[in-house]
Amino acid sequence: MITIDEDTRVTMINPVAERFTGLSHAETRGRLIGDLLRDFTDLTADALGTVLASLKHRQPIRLPDPIPWCGPDGRNYALRLTATPVGKAGEGAVVVLNDVTETLAITARLQHEATHDLLTGLPNRALLLDRLHQALANAQRRGTLVALLFVDLDRFKRINDSLGHYVGDQVLQVVAERLQASVRAGDTVARWGGDEFIVLMDNLNDRSAVISVARKLLEVLEREVEAEGGTDLVLSCSVGISVGPQDSPDAQTLLSMADKAMYRGKIEGGASYTFFAPDMNTWSRDRLSMEGALRHGLINREFELYYQPQVDIDSGRLSGLEALIRWHRPGSGVVRPDVFIAAAEETGLIRSMGEWAIREATAQVARWRAEGLETVPLAVNVSARQCSDMGIVDAIREALADSGLDPRMLKVELTESTAMRDPERAAELLGRIDALGVGIAVDDFGTGYSSLSLLKRFPISELKIDKSFVGDIAANNDDAAIVRGTIALAHGLGMKVVAEGVETEPQLDFLARHGCNVAQGYLFAQPLPASEIRGWLALLPPHALRAVRNLRPLE
Ligand code: C2E
Ligand code: MG
Ligand code: MG
Repeated sequence: MITIDEDTRVTMINPVAERFTGLSHAETRGRLIGDLLRDFTDLTADALGTVLASLKHRQPIRLPDPIPWCGPDGRNYALRLTATPVGKAGEGAVVVLNDVTETLAITARLQHEATHDLLTGLPNRALLLDRLHQALANAQRRGTLVALLFVDLDRFKRINDSLGHYVGDQVLQVVAERLQASVRAGDTVARWGGDEFIVLMDNLNDRSAVISVARKLLEVLEREVEAEGGTDLVLSCSVGISVGPQDSPDAQTLLSMADKAMYRGKIEGGASYTFFAPDMNTWSRDRLSMEGALRHGLINREFELYYQPQVDIDSGRLSGLEALIRWHRPGSGVVRPDVFIAAAEETGLIRSMGEWAIREATAQVARWRAEGLETVPLAVNVSARQCSDMGIVDAIREALADSGLDPRMLKVELTESTAMRDPERAAELLGRIDALGVGIAVDDFGTGYSSLSLLKRFPISELKIDKSFVGDIAANNDDAAIVRGTIALAHGLGMKVVAEGVETEPQLDFLARHGCNVAQGYLFAQPLPASEIRGWLALLPPHALRAVRNLRPLE
């Protein structure tokens, strides 16, 4: 607080003002306030104008914006200035300088937080939408183009699930930096959510600039990311592109077009950029109708389990069966799970589908037994979404109780990434399944990231080598090494090894020589309807026995 007389000379300053000026009361006394202010702020004219106006009009006046103040300590402050006249005859005024530095900083931070993503510091959805609206309005006025590039990391979920959220977060930060470094200063890179980013390019004349940026994004994201712990991660992304106002003048529509284009690129294999095309609208309608058809199919009992034999390599006997779901979709023949499991997972229908599969599988074994057939353990696949709560444990328990099946006759197959995604939860889930007496197989082994210590800790009874490795064991040294390594690993941990996708005798031969326990694949049989499995349960068909007996002796 500084008081002045009618000639704007300082009559008194209080201790706080002494601190802000570094001057004592005695040193300032009698100085013109304009001269005093000039030493600390560039806005002396505004400040002094306010003081004079207050003296002249005899009313309190506040300067609307805080004035920047360079204190004697060299620090910058923001002070809000109010001048209030004293006395009835205009004898002087009180100038109050309020320190609002902190308030301003908090406000700025809140504003930043409301418009930016905390993890990456990039603009968030709200700010992006704001800029997109503006860019579209400008584009229409100027006759230029706006491009939206929807960037989604391929298989990011797998990184998050298997290496943890901490590593996932690090990866997202690196991605954010790389994206930001790949665009012009005027372009916006925003985080849309999860592993989705959006690049907004403004003021374009044609599509060629968009293509070169899209290529650049693909390229920079494909460089390795070094994550904590020295793991080098290889990333890729899918980029979907829409161009306004050509594709649409509407912001929301453009966003959903870029999203659809991205999705199309992703299901076609990812690591690519895709421009929006009008047929993508019908395509996503297909997806909706898929959901309806799946629901309908569940109610109308259009699903059936096929069973694929598993053969013990040593003895050549049938050692197990795997249940694989099939859909008799009206008008489409027999549909394989690859076509609908993802949609069932996304829509949550996988729960009812999975529970049905467990009930049906156990009931089928009970039926075979009732016919007097000798049965073998039956494996049922469960997907990640089914493991997200413990409901599956109840489903298994009930199915066992209803069918009267010996729990040892049932196995659950879950994929490597499902098992590794959330170790704490997986440990509990697997523990409970194990406690029921049901076996646990890790499916598609080798395609995800496994932690050895977890493998050791979990009550796993077998590893299934993914068919992608088996296919090439004869020709590809790397695959052969992976298969040999997996067999050694499983045996070291006291687990059985099952090889999937065995199609040829040389493959079986290789597996036998390296001690693999069980083989499953077209060499023996395709997945078959229950009625055709009967023969297998009675007696192993001669061609299967022959395949096993033809094995070369161990070297
Ligand atoms: P999976 O569990 O890894 O099953 C093995 C897949 O390989 C099956 O495909 C099988 O038909 C196929 N296959 C078997 N032998 C050979 C072979 O010699 N060569 C080749 N190239 N392929 C072979 P399918 O039946 O299309 O099932 C695909 C995937 O769908 C399964 O992979 C499994 O993850 C999932 N799935 C199947 N049934 C169910 C189910 O009831 N519930 C859930 N959640 N997922 C299921
Ligand atoms: Mg399986
Ligand atoms: Mg598999």
